[in-house]
Amino acid sequence: MDEPSQQLVEFVVSARAVLIDPWELVGDGAVAIGGGRILHLGRRRAVLRRFSGVKEFSFQSHLLLPGLVNAHTHLELSFLAGKIPPPAHFTDWVLALMAAYPHAAGARKIIAAAAHTGAHQSMKSGVTTVGDISRYAAISRAALRRGPLRVVSFGEITALGRSRRRLAGRLRRAAAATLQSDWVTIGLSPHAPYSVEGPALKKIVEVAERRRLPLAMHLAELSEEREFLASLGGPLGCRWEFMRKMNLLDERIPLFAGGPLAWAGHYGLLNASVPLLLAHVNYVDQADLELLARSRATVALCPRTRHYFGHESRAPHRWRDMLARGINVCLATDSLASNPDLCVLREAQFVRQREPDADVQELFAMLTTRPARALGLENAIGRLAPGFRADMLAVEIPAKEPLSIRSALERIIRAAPLPAAVWINGRAIFDRAGER
Ligand SMILES: [Zn+2]
Repeated sequence: MDEPSQQLVEFVVSARAVLIDPWELVGDGAVAIGGGRILHLGRRRAVLRRFSGVKEFSFQSHLLLPGLVNAHTHLELSFLAGKIPPPAHFTDWVLALMAAYPHAAGARKIIAAAAHTGAHQSMKSGVTTVGDISRYAAISRAALRRGPLRVVSFGEITALGRSRRRLAGRLRRAAAATLQSDWVTIGLSPHAPYSVEGPALKKIVEVAERRRLPLAMHLAELSEEREFLASLGGPLGCRWEFMRKMNLLDERIPLFAGGPLAWAGHYGLLNASVPLLLAHVNYVDQADLELLARSRATVALCPRTRHYFGHESRAPHRWRDMLARGINVCLATDSLASNPDLCVLREAQFVRQREPDADVQELFAMLTTRPARALGLENAIGRLAPGFRADMLAVEIPAKEPLSIRSALERIIRAAPLPAAVWINGRAIFDRAGER
């Protein structure tokens, strides 16, 4: 990056310590910001000397961190917060969800308000970018397009059996660029193996590649996906009353033996040439891990949603095996229909409570640099570095405590505090502690 000139710098944020690029903790640090980007950062005195006369916002009892990235959520489901008790089975939850979805004239208002609620709650907890799955993309994108939250909006698509003729229209609406803005960019989300048939998946991947759109899909969330793909049977297929009622299943759906990961590989998803996020990936065997390791896919682990659905007791998540094999893994919340809040830091806290030997730096990367990569934004967000977007948060820390990276991250993940201030694109979203 070229030397930033004095004129470009609009203001400086200084703090007791700044976590930079990505694992250096600079005590008494400062960040110079202009045009929504970080232009320079380092020791406060050096930064102020260089940009003398520029307005300074001082956070001397705070740590300045990169904004958190929640790469898998459904903001539009925020109207269901606390409304669906943990189900006996996932399919019961889907039924409750379908029953609760607004259909009448007021639907647009409810979905738009829910997207706003979810965005607001995210930012309050320090999330500055979300990967947002939306079934009603035209409504949620219209609601979110003026910011201030940064959103990758994955238009959700289903196309199975007798609904396959709707694929082209659904794909066109999900990929429509008309509601893109400085804050909202477009992605595609084939929903899940039990709602999208293989040839439809292939088609969605082709469109994503042609248009350079990131992809997100729920995959291997349920152990029953294997049986469904192999025979259209089991609790997700013929035995599911909902599936019978919808009357979608027909003989043209290609059967596939070998499980959802191999299925996704067969239809081109795993090796798509665009960023790919796989939500959950709860049930994998050794062969699946090999497939994931050969792809560039990111796995989004949603710990409290796993807990809600009872997956925890059925099979421990293999996220550490995944990381050890070089697979990118991030932490995410999923929606308020299966999680008490959208605070992704609490996901790290939850993991650490259950796995006290989990590395805090690794967990923090799963909230910042790793989800940034999942969304194809690894060169723009997830770290405080010159040229990166000025997405930041200030978190209070006791003034006297000596600070190291580990002690700072340890404290933050243990307490999961709400930030005192949040900036997105250099714009202060709220500020409970600074001078403004
Ligand atoms: Zn989800």
